[in-house]
Amino acid sequence: MGEGMNNAPTRPGAGIEQEQFLAILSREEALTRFDAALFPRAVPVERRRLADALGMALAEDVVAPIDVPPFDRANVDGFAARSTDLAEAGEGRGVKLVLNDERIACGTEPALPVLGGTATPISTGGPIPRGADAVIMVEHTEPAGEGIAVRRAASPGQFISYAGSDIARGETLLRAGTLIGSREIGMLAACGIASVPVARKPKVAVISTGDELVQPGAPLPSAGIYDTNGAIVSAAIAENGGEPVFLGAFPDDEATLEAAMREALAGHDMLILSGGTSKGAGDVSHRIIARLGKPGIIAHGVALKPGKPLCLAVCDGKPVVILPGFPTSAMFTFHDMIVPVLRRMAGLPPRTDAHVTATVPLRVPSELGRTEFVMISLVEGQEGLVAYPTSKGSGAITSFAQADGFVRIEALADHLPVGAQVEVTLFTPQVHVPDLVIIGSHCTGLDRVLAPLVQQGLSVRSLSVGSLGGLAAARRGECDVAPIHLFDERTKSYNEPFLSPGLELVPGWRRMQGFVHRKGDARFEGLSAEVAVKAALADPACLLVNRNQGAGTRILIDALLGGARPEGYWNQPKSHNAVAAAVSQGRADWGVTIAPVADAAGLGFIPLAEEHYDFALVSARRERPPVQAFLAALHSPEVRQALEEAGFRPA
Ligand code: AMP
Ligand code: MG
Repeated sequence: MGEGMNNAPTRPGAGIEQEQFLAILSREEALTRFDAALFPRAVPVERRRLADALGMALAEDVVAPIDVPPFDRANVDGFAARSTDLAEAGEGRGVKLVLNDERIACGTEPALPVLGGTATPISTGGPIPRGADAVIMVEHTEPAGEGIAVRRAASPGQFISYAGSDIARGETLLRAGTLIGSREIGMLAACGIASVPVARKPKVAVISTGDELVQPGAPLPSAGIYDTNGAIVSAAIAENGGEPVFLGAFPDDEATLEAAMREALAGHDMLILSGGTSKGAGDVSHRIIARLGKPGIIAHGVALKPGKPLCLAVCDGKPVVILPGFPTSAMFTFHDMIVPVLRRMAGLPPRTDAHVTATVPLRVPSELGRTEFVMISLVEGQEGLVAYPTSKGSGAITSFAQADGFVRIEALADHLPVGAQVEVTLFTPQVHVPDLVIIGSHCTGLDRVLAPLVQQGLSVRSLSVGSLGGLAAARRGECDVAPIHLFDERTKSYNEPFLSPGLELVPGWRRMQGFVHRKGDARFEGLSAEVAVKAALADPACLLVNRNQGAGTRILIDALLGGARPEGYWNQPKSHNAVAAAVSQGRADWGVTIAPVADAAGLGFIPLAEEHYDFALVSARRERPPVQAFLAALHSPEVRQALEEAGFRPA
């Protein structure tokens, strides 16, 4: 390495990234510094009437001021009596008791004692009179002259709720930090408490930044992106005891943004921005923070993957956070590092309901030196929950669609080994184990089969990990069925040769693969597939969109190319839809995808070959009702028709 070529951060002319992230802190160091700048601090308290306390966190312990019930009371309709009088009572040996001259209803204070040989009529909820130690049910008595005959012995305390048996005076009824729900409101009301001290919810201003952002509901211009962070960050704030105030999305313009940030800080307890932190984004909000208050930026650049551009600041006592722009990165960093701060400010204890333990089914590589977040999806394995990574590697732009939460891989680990026990942070604190689990290759036709199951109330999880990943999951018993489309060169047949003992093949449908181009592209209109490929290869201006290694379609493309590496060969997206999008948006001129996807994208389609999309069924799970329901749906005339209408050919 030559002189001056090292990465000295203060070297004039250093790259933007080095200027931005002068000191990358570890996750732990960043948290420690943030914590030290914010805590301890008093949680602001307000008193609220019960009706307005729902969803708030109790600010102080509440001690029961009275016993509940406040007196010994009857649990049934009947007679208050003395158990010793009834020792001899039995079927055919009625014991006679004389009735006292009063009837104790709810809210009636007893006037007469129950002396030996007497009883007093009492209603459910009535206070037990002096001398009585049991209540006899009406059903166990019959009228006898002036009194009653009792046909059953009574044990002391029978059908009596004693004072304080529900809540005892002086006991801690609810602890500080308890989230007040209907149950808590009921307990407080039973004790006669009309208002409680609650932690005032921190008001958290939320700002999205980016010229490309459009609010949901508005039409999406080309190159526009719907503002996801505004909605998801606001909702996650509300889920964790804050009061979100979404102020909108602002362009990356320093003056506009500074005005918005100043206003946000003046009227709120905390400010959370997202976007604008990555290299080259203009670095706008981070520069503004330095002018907003002391001490300012605490950490800018944290050794996280993804999430490195995270910025933590404190301006005159108020936390200011810039989350990374990618929604998944924003959520990882928010849940892992900001939620604990927000909950402390909201007077709430750390979340215990948002973590579960699970096992990872495969080796998960990780970068040494950075804390890595991996999005996961949970399924029930043979020995508890299994956490499937749904993002392979960087995790920068994966969707939330199938994710239950994420795991954190410590900076000092370079991988998680197969079978590692991990703690999963859940996005929504409850795990619902699905009725039917499908892991393998995805196909839009699958949605046609699953629709009636979902209507029957079954919950279905389908994870797309590719055919080979699906087969591995099926062998480990982590799914019911694995959709696969694997061509065996040796036998020239699909799928069957790939099965192993314990798996059986259920035929699915055929998908026509074809050459796709934009309609009206004169280079390809009216040609056969072979000729169209030749034409594409002959034209150096013609761009291919390829497929990823391991995809069945890739094998087909490589065969078509016969060793050629045309322009666009290295553009290798992982799905049929991405191929169609690339061609229809003009980022490529041709590719290979399946007919239904080409149709939906309005592309020209030249048929090539039919591919078999079948299901490897785990035999041991065949008799499970949800699996039977799946098979019934697959074979039903309605589903077969829906598949045909969508361009598939049921087997
Ligand atoms: P930035 O840090 O602003 O460069 O953003 C990084 C990436 O995240 C870009 O692809 C942005 O379009 C995207 N992004 C930023 N903010 C949002 C948002 N609020 N919603 C969805 N995507 C966003
Ligand atoms: Mg941006």
